[in-house]
Amino acid sequence: MKKLYDIVIIGAGIAGSAIARELSRYDLKIALLEKEADAAFGVSKANSGIVHAGFHSAPGMVKSRLCVRGNYLYGELKDELDLPFERKGELMIARGAEDEEKLEFFLKQGNQLGVPDLKIVRGEELRRLEPQLSDEITAALYAPSAGVINPYETVYRFVQNAMQNGVEFFPDSEVVAVAEGIVETTEQTFETKYIINAAGLNAAKIAEMAGLHTFDIKPRKGQEYLLDRKASALVNHVIFPLPSKTSKGILVIPTLDGTVMIGPSAEDGRDDDTTTNDVFDAILASTRTIIPSITPKLLISAFAGVRPVATGDDFIIGPTGVKGFINVAGIQSPGLTAAPAIAEAVVAILKKNGDLLLNKKSDFIAYVPRHPKARTMGKEDLSRSVALDPHFGKLVCRCEHVSEAEIRQAVREGASTLDGIKLRTRAGMGRCQGGFCTYRILEIMAEELGVPMTELTKKGANSALLAKDLKNDR
Ligand SMILES: Cc1cc2nc3c(=O)[nH]c(=O)nc-3n(C[C@H](O)[C@H](O)[C@H](O)COP(=O)(O)OP(=O)(O)OC[C@H]3O[C@@H](n4cnc5c(N)ncnc54)[C@H](O)[C@@H]3O)c2cc1C
Repeated sequence: MKKLYDIVIIGAGIAGSAIARELSRYDLKIALLEKEADAAFGVSKANSGIVHAGFHSAPGMVKSRLCVRGNYLYGELKDELDLPFERKGELMIARGAEDEEKLEFFLKQGNQLGVPDLKIVRGEELRRLEPQLSDEITAALYAPSAGVINPYETVYRFVQNAMQNGVEFFPDSEVVAVAEGIVETTEQTFETKYIINAAGLNAAKIAEMAGLHTFDIKPRKGQEYLLDRKASALVNHVIFPLPSKTSKGILVIPTLDGTVMIGPSAEDGRDDDTTTNDVFDAILASTRTIIPSITPKLLISAFAGVRPVATGDDFIIGPTGVKGFINVAGIQSPGLTAAPAIAEAVVAILKKNGDLLLNKKSDFIAYVPRHPKARTMGKEDLSRSVALDPHFGKLVCRCEHVSEAEIRQAVREGASTLDGIKLRTRAGMGRCQGGFCTYRILEIMAEELGVPMTELTKKGANSALLAKDLKNDR
């Protein structure tokens, strides 16, 4: 049986989920489709987590305008969506007079684009901001509006709030065919007035299903390396070198969780998530020219993500030759930053088209329920939380201080796989990488979901974790 919708969004990454949340302000029937078992399992899962200030790209590019606006909007969204987001500021560094001229260029470009409070810092002011910087660094462009965010939690909050406001989310629903007003998934067929193609690395394939052959998506892989919390004393801001043509360079990033990330690489044509020693060595060497006190001993884990780079190197956002089919494609960096502004741009396109009634709901819920975390609570708050829910008193992940209450809340908010729990709570992301807590998490998930442990998976189909239930099968 066909399902009737106003809008079907393909892809529950940061772009699709932000669009779903923004559109949920209006009286519309909306479906958000995702091929994976959960949201945030695509490009939005593996990136640097920076909300860029927005001085990197040239005025006139779609991504420049949306980056600056997106950065601003995260300030408003932080409270509404209880987002893990902090404006730590970023520094683009220079070594000597020639580099400093380039900083002047980016300062001018940033000012043109409306990036707030940009300035060039030198000498003592620079050392005060970053005491561990290499002596070779002579100046930096300082952008206090830049921040760091937890990218997957942000996706989950957008989806959660969209669902609070009536959006229907369909995980495990791979789109296999598209025609004007029709979207067919592996599960069912949707009839809809609008289709929004936010399929990340698959956006060109989805457009082709609709008969559009206007752009390609080329993968560009980025390896990232996470350093122990001990490294957090070494860096206060996101630090960039001067950019190259294809990337913003190797960065040093103080994450929200107290670790430090170094990377990413920029490997054109690579579409896999492997990490390699040679790239680590190159990233480490480059990082040590910025902060010499960073050592290989600090490394705790590694991952890789793949940027969807579209023909023309810009975002492709807009209506197409197929009626009702809107592309949100080529969302490479700074897509995480720009996502809230991308969502506004999609609403503007729908308003301009004028064939869909966009009545604002009077009962729109702007706020998600709070997400208290044992890790960040003071003693008094923790005692209060334990009194309300004793599960806060039971630590499941000792490395990351994640309580049983947080695991249970994650399941109740939609996590159905071990990776879904990990991304929502950080359980299993610490030093021991889940060695101690995985079994307990599975027990809690089985209880909450009312399924045998043997049915639980790491990340959906073909990733079962247990051949038999060790506890009930002795
Ligand atoms: C290494 C790296 C570092 C980065 N760092 C930053 C940064 O610091 N700051 C920043 O702003 N940006 C950064 N980015 C860019 C940012 O991560 C991306 O722009 C953003 O995540 C893209 O989001 P998306 O929603 O377009 O894609 P995705 O997150 O991939 O979402 C698309 C979704 O569509 C689903 N899908 C695909 N095909 C189908 C189908 N047939 N049917 C149903 N669903 C489908 C996918 O499973 C996926 O979940 C970085 C990227 C990389 C790779």
